[in-house]
Amino acid sequence: MRLHEVGEFGFIDRLAQRVVAHHGVRLGIGDDCAVTDAPVSGRTLTTTDLLVEGVHFDLAYTDPAALGHKSLAVNLSDIAAMGGVPRHVLLGLAIPPSMEVEFLDAFMAAFLDLADQYAVTLIGGDTCASLTGLMVSVTLVGEQSPDRILTRGAAKPGDLVVVSGTVGDAAIGLELLQGRLLADEGDADAARFCINRHLRPTPRVALGQLLTNAGIVGAMIDLSDGIMADLGHVLTASQVGARLAAAKLPISPAYRTLAARLPGNFWELALTGGEDYELLFTVPAEREADLRRIQANAEVPLSIIGAITGEAGLQVLDGTGAALQFPRCGYNHFA
Ligand code: ADP
Ligand code: MG
Repeated sequence: MRLHEVGEFGFIDRLAQRVVAHHGVRLGIGDDCAVTDAPVSGRTLTTTDLLVEGVHFDLAYTDPAALGHKSLAVNLSDIAAMGGVPRHVLLGLAIPPSMEVEFLDAFMAAFLDLADQYAVTLIGGDTCASLTGLMVSVTLVGEQSPDRILTRGAAKPGDLVVVSGTVGDAAIGLELLQGRLLADEGDADAARFCINRHLRPTPRVALGQLLTNAGIVGAMIDLSDGIMADLGHVLTASQVGARLAAAKLPISPAYRTLAARLPGNFWELALTGGEDYELLFTVPAEREADLRRIQANAEVPLSIIGAITGEAGLQVLDGTGAALQFPRCGYNHFA
């Protein structure tokens, strides 16, 4: 069945039926506005991300469930990066009329599964036809008390630079999906791992709250464009610099196997590859013991990769103490 046979309102009815109402929703899909309770914790956090076919995703290798998952996951990651609690989400869709309804059902099922996992409610959105490709716009609203909101601007010289999980996997996944890297049969598991990291990122929502509740974090950001670019934003906002040790980067076994096959520096994708959606944050050096204690309750490993410096600039040293340099750091849409 095609979308034009169901129509705009048929589609909205289908999706409204699947929505579970969680915290604070007085009126959801169906009226001119949604009505929600004001946040009990004091402050509202709002974030939005746009995903455009041909720019952010390619339907040749992105299935609808992966797209539904990822379009919400990247927004959850932004709320996580502020230490926030995600609550309500709005979904804008521009859809080619010839699109299969089954595609949209699978998209919505994955989107709503992830929403339910984090007790997030879809409270509204907008749906229209697209004369080109599919476009997905997600706006996520969360909350946190003012003293627990973590920004990019609070890194201090001497702080440790810490990153969650492993880095570079999603970039290896993209190399595989776009055919620039071919995995051997023996690497099938490693390839699957990296592709999954690219297509279905896990937002570190619980970790973000754990960190902010522990009160040990200075600045925090999520890794959407790679460590060089995203730590760069923290350094600019905090007016500091940083020195990292490449050997301390948390590298997955899959990355270790597959990155060795690529031309260029082994660390390049771990430092400049995007879409890992891990958290990068700073901790005062004297709180290192607290960080180790928090590790017991964290969903992923927390690795100290370097330190904040008083002088500006971001330096990454390899095992010999030489500074690494990369031609391209992060992604700039208009460059
Ligand atoms: P209006 O014309 O007042 O903007 P619409 O007819 O566009 O209302 O939408 C009807 C209802 O369906 C609204 O509650 C709107 O928030 C919801 N809605 C429309 N599209 C979506 C979508 N893609 N996801 C979630 N809710 C949607
Ligand atoms: Mg509308």
